[in-house]
Amino acid sequence: MNPVAYQRAGSVEEALRLAQAPGAAFLGGGTNLIDLMKGGIATPRLLVDVSRLPPLAGISELPAGGLRIGAAALNSDVANHPLVRSRYPLLSQALLAGASPQLRNMATVGGNLLQRTRCPYFYDPAFERCNKRQPGSGCDAKEGFNRMHAILGASEACIAVHPSDMCVALAALRAVVRVQGARGERAIAFADFHRLPGDAPQRDTVLAPGELITAVDLPAEAAGLAGHAHYLKLRDRASYAFALVSVAAALDIRDGVVRDAALALGGVAHKPWRVPQAEDLLVGKPLSADTMQAAAQALLQGARAQAHNGFKVELARRSVLRALGTAGGLA
Ligand code: SF4
Repeated sequence: MNPVAYQRAGSVEEALRLAQAPGAAFLGGGTNLIDLMKGGIATPRLLVDVSRLPPLAGISELPAGGLRIGAAALNSDVANHPLVRSRYPLLSQALLAGASPQLRNMATVGGNLLQRTRCPYFYDPAFERCNKRQPGSGCDAKEGFNRMHAILGASEACIAVHPSDMCVALAALRAVVRVQGARGERAIAFADFHRLPGDAPQRDTVLAPGELITAVDLPAEAAGLAGHAHYLKLRDRASYAFALVSVAAALDIRDGVVRDAALALGGVAHKPWRVPQAEDLLVGKPLSADTMQAAAQALLQGARAQAHNGFKVELARRSVLRALGTAGGLA
């Protein structure tokens, strides 16, 4: 590992100031960053520890309804929080489907948002071509073994997928990411936070250099989806594996009619995959095989398999049907 300095920030302002140093990186639970440093993929010169900043901790109710989850809140604490379990069970289910209990006890919400792809070619410097690790070098996954890779939103430069379960639920629930930087605070709709790879796959998010995630807000309206929520994760082994495909599905059903729908896919693209039109196709009607099929088709519009993951397209379609059916009580 390269030499690295460590400093624990005492305030958000101090964290932002320290982050202006060349080679500085924020440290939360370190469950991904330390792995990347051990492999020489990330080489920060200064770790600015933001894991114990009081303004970033905890979960609180927002005045207009909804919840604010601090960026330093631990994944296990969020998953088991009574208000999250009762109002946003989709998020709780997704968190508990991710990683292991030990990792969830270390990993923070902010770190989960920033975790990097698990593309094996990205993690192994023996493979020379990786545009995400070394911009302009190429992509060894394209001609390599790409069973786990993207079927949606990929580019010529990168076919990696985002690995988070939590983020799939947050995308479906239309969360908002709150960040603070040298230019002040801003709020970013979850759908806009992660990027598709395009020709700059080295950039996973729209964060500006030195910007700090401070919280994630869950909107009050999404609590209406609590009664019919299901997170489905398909993976190669029953625990501690990243998703081949995952689905976050939640429905607000009253008098037999779907009043609101939340739907997102994980494991299929460089970001959690949500298509609002797919949700619209479910709203205003009773949930049925036809409406679920239509939603799945809209969500997977434009899907394109790599050499080794053609199975993912059909797996994703069937997973959407199963997740919606389970959420809506039809399965
Ligand atoms: Fe790198 Fe992306 Fe290609 Fe993987 S898919 S080798 S992360 S450029």
